[in-house]
Amino acid sequence: MALRDPEMLAIFERRVVLKKVCRKCGALNPISAVKCRRCRSRNLRVKKRFASKK
Ligand SMILES: [Zn+2]
Repeated sequence: MALRDPEMLAIFERRVVLKKVCRKCGALNPISAVKCRRCRSRNLRVKKRFASKK
């Protein structure tokens, strides 16, 4: 895999970050989503950039 390539890493990071998480059911939705695809709630938040580092 080319994950060591900084360009690829940046793209990958952006793709992971550009998600919306439903506050109700926790489902991941595309950044363009207005409603949750699982529970149709409008209670979505944007996934924060450095939040998911474990
Ligand atoms: Zn939901």
